[in-house]
Amino acid sequence: MADSANASVPIVRWLPDETFFSICCRQHRFMCRGTKASTTAWLFGEGSSSVQHDFPSKLNSLPQKAKEVWGSPLNIITEHTILPLFFPFQSKEKIRDVLDTVSKNSLGTLKYRLGLVTGRFGAEHPLKACLECLKEDRIKHGVAYWHLSHQYPGVTLCPKHGTLIRICSANRQWSDSAHWVLPAEDLIASVAEQPVCPTVVQILKRLGHSVIELATLGISVQFRPEDVMGAYNEAIRHLSVNTEACFDAEADLASFASQLQPYLPLASLPTTPQKAETFIQSLIRTPRVNSHPLKHLIMITYIFGEFAPFLGALNRFQSACDQETYSPDHEKQAVGDKPAHRFKGQEIRDRVFKKLKPKKLKPELREQILGCLRKGVEKNSIAERYGVSISTINRILRADPHMMAAWITQRRDLSLHDHRADWVSAIGMNPDVSPKVLRLMLPKVYQWLYRNDNDWLMAQTKRMPSGRVGNNQKIDWGARDRQLCESIELIIQRGKTPATNLPVRADHIFALVPTLHRCLEKRNRYPEARKLLESVTQSTKT
Ligand SMILES: [Zn+2]
Repeated sequence: MADSANASVPIVRWLPDETFFSICCRQHRFMCRGTKASTTAWLFGEGSSSVQHDFPSKLNSLPQKAKEVWGSPLNIITEHTILPLFFPFQSKEKIRDVLDTVSKNSLGTLKYRLGLVTGRFGAEHPLKACLECLKEDRIKHGVAYWHLSHQYPGVTLCPKHGTLIRICSANRQWSDSAHWVLPAEDLIASVAEQPVCPTVVQILKRLGHSVIELATLGISVQFRPEDVMGAYNEAIRHLSVNTEACFDAEADLASFASQLQPYLPLASLPTTPQKAETFIQSLIRTPRVNSHPLKHLIMITYIFGEFAPFLGALNRFQSACDQETYSPDHEKQAVGDKPAHRFKGQEIRDRVFKKLKPKKLKPELREQILGCLRKGVEKNSIAERYGVSISTINRILRADPHMMAAWITQRRDLSLHDHRADWVSAIGMNPDVSPKVLRLMLPKVYQWLYRNDNDWLMAQTKRMPSGRVGNNQKIDWGARDRQLCESIELIIQRGKTPATNLPVRADHIFALVPTLHRCLEKRNRYPEARKLLESVTQSTKT
């Protein structure tokens, strides 16, 4: 559609906290005679056909009239997309690359270059909305629209209403095609339940606030990786000193992460001390520029509680040479008038690591703890849930050798399940890698399985590609189908655990097995996985 033909088209104006995708959807609705293709061509020029809702592209091609009302491409990127969340922990070169790509070109491999495709949080950012906001927006603005603050990965509760933000079924990776679609009740669903435990609500709120604060800093700040690493190390040292002998960073982080894990995209957070150790070490040993901001924000929320004390700690690691990139105005805005040293001591001690005094257990409480131990629940989770110390739990276990044996067996079974799930899910995410490469990617998981579950591990590795180039003809599709089925079955099993107790729906499985949609695109392959998915879909309908 020629620009001149639409010279008279009025341009819609921004609503509060609105995304760029949302204003395009409203413009599409406004130009009601247009098809999806004609709106896309009008926005981004002839030949443009794809619709993206998370990262924009070809912003320089927007009609002049739209630029006048919506602002420059830079303004659109920094004020109306989730991209600024990815800037503070990235290098300047990478940010220039992002700005250049989304202004001039199609996205291409941008998500891969940002490390999202291979990261633990995935590269998909599904559209999200809050039911309460939907109703309010219709009354206030006459239309329900996509709020920017809801779209960031890691924001799970509506900042305004505190209710669980729901995920839109349209424009997902497995959808036939993406559309200019505005939020509506029949399009949004929940893959998790509204948290009822006040501790979980608090953690989700704090993480969500931190995500939004980081995104607000956006392009104005680039953190130096060595300063970030220094701030983490110092805070962990303080925690070890101030919380006496009961501080166990790995177990604490695992317990913290277990509470976040049911919420997308946090499913792959480390929930065992072993995995938590790898997670922490990766952030405190080597300065990193390519880690997903959520990885840092999990660490920040875990150690500092909130984002502002982290900025205060970081400030002390800034040297004079980076004053030019670290604007004092932003520091003031984010940290307020809180002196940097205030985050030390009491503030951290009081946060999650409450001092646990020895307690005389009432019989009722003792029974509840025994119930958890019988199920093999981790000691730290029990301590957190019932406000008792680890030594109290150890005392209970020592007093009953049968209980001790049952607990150890259960823990081993759960650990076996977790390690197998990690291995199978890594195969699913990297179907073409050889056992050797996968072993290098997951050394600890491999070692654990090698020592404890060797037969299963060997059976798995036999079905994997050999790693030699040029043997495409020998792909064992049956083995891949079986592996995909195992990934799906593990997700179904996890969904049935008493901790979550949710019916497992197909969209949940698609969200948690990131390669599934790509596999199913091969129409003549994966018959067993298709059958399994069909049975899941049938059972959730009945
Ligand atoms: Zn809301």
